[in-house]
Amino acid sequence: MTNHYEVVIIGSGAGGGTLARCLAEAGKKVLVLERGDWLPREPQNWDPTEVFQNNRYVSVDPWKDRNNKQFQPGSHYFVGGATKLYGAAHFRLRERDFEELIHVDGISPAWPLRYNDFEPYYTRAEAMYHVHGERGEDPTEPSASAPYPYPPIKHEPRMQQLVDGFKAAGLHPFHAPTGVNLDEANLPFSACVKCNRCDGFPCLLHAKGDAEVMGIRAGLGLANSSLTLLTRCHVLKLITNLAGDTITEVLVDRDGEKLKFTGDIVVVSCGAANSARLLLMSANDKHPNGLANRSDQVGRNYMYHNCKAVVALGREPNDTIFQKTIAVNDWYFGDNDFDFPIGNIQMTGKTNGAMMKGYKPKLTALAPTWSMDKLAERSLDFWLQTED
Ligand SMILES: Cc1cc2nc3c(=O)[nH]c(=O)nc-3n(C[C@H](O)[C@H](O)[C@H](O)COP(=O)(O)OP(=O)(O)OC[C@H]3O[C@@H](n4cnc5c(N)ncnc54)[C@H](O)[C@@H]3O)c2cc1C
Repeated sequence: MTNHYEVVIIGSGAGGGTLARCLAEAGKKVLVLERGDWLPREPQNWDPTEVFQNNRYVSVDPWKDRNNKQFQPGSHYFVGGATKLYGAAHFRLRERDFEELIHVDGISPAWPLRYNDFEPYYTRAEAMYHVHGERGEDPTEPSASAPYPYPPIKHEPRMQQLVDGFKAAGLHPFHAPTGVNLDEANLPFSACVKCNRCDGFPCLLHAKGDAEVMGIRAGLGLANSSLTLLTRCHVLKLITNLAGDTITEVLVDRDGEKLKFTGDIVVVSCGAANSARLLLMSANDKHPNGLANRSDQVGRNYMYHNCKAVVALGREPNDTIFQKTIAVNDWYFGDNDFDFPIGNIQMTGKTNGAMMKGYKPKLTALAPTWSMDKLAERSLDFWLQTED
């Protein structure tokens, strides 16, 4: 096995998988080291009990909290990383998100890079991930150099009714930007069948815009592809030269065997927590606090969107199948009586009883005795995402 590459990428998720394809298209000799394996294609991919209650695709890797208490995070160590299970919602940040922004709990400082630096890459990513949407509907939308590459996904009747209701209330609902390989104009030939097994499920049809399908597989499938993927390769340490200014080797555990790889460039894209972990585990004499950690901030200040699924119960059944077509950003930067950013509202995939059981909802006085199936029949399922 050749061990030297122009670029060694660690992790094959949204970051690593996307980069791998782009570099392979540019003819670079690239190695992707992924600790997980291919996510198996099996009937359980679409079984809500397996996915939401039995956590079949959560990779066992217990972490410890600050009190040394063990917990299991929602990790997905597969080719494609967390995107194998993600909801395929492709929102861009807004211009103001990159500037100093005053939040209710403090100031988010300006980024060293601004929206315009990212804009061309957002446009490329939307094409690569098959994003459907409609520009001009969302008043908070940032500028874009191209229309969405694919048309907005049509609302089903109950969703259209909800859109009309939102508009009548003075809101500005818009078509949620969603990355799926869907051709609504020619459904018999479409890869995506617009089913209700998208959000939180692996796609059995490989029709979701995930980093395995749109990144790694697309890169491997290029004619004379210069991309190599090695699965089950857990990177343990980045080894530097004596001066501590160059990574000379990447140390890997593969099924108990230790392997070493070298690259002109090494990219750490193991996800937010595991990238920090790898840099910290790579401490040496020159870098006693870990690599790239002169600031002592690596692994600290983790920011996260606070998310909550909220279910509204309608009087009538909600027979929507593909529910993820609406989003609302009217409170993204605040409200008349609240001067700070609040967040975004989108739909989750349409829930059913088994999924709802997995969410462990707090039942209100409204329907205390209803079965999960009965709740799900009536539910309109929202995803509220607020600033950390
Ligand atoms: C259920 C769910 C739904 C989501 N929905 C959305 C959504 O709709 N829209 C959205 O924008 N975001 C969504 N997200 C978040 C999104 O998936 C992540 O932000 C994104 O995947 C992060 O990309 P990443 O490349 O940083 O990490 P990941 O995609 O997690 O990839 C990291 C990869 O690195 C590998 N790895 C880790 N450590 C090592 C190591 N030491 N050696 C080798 N390999 C390693 C992992 O196995 C993994 O494959 C969702 C996430 C989840 C879990």
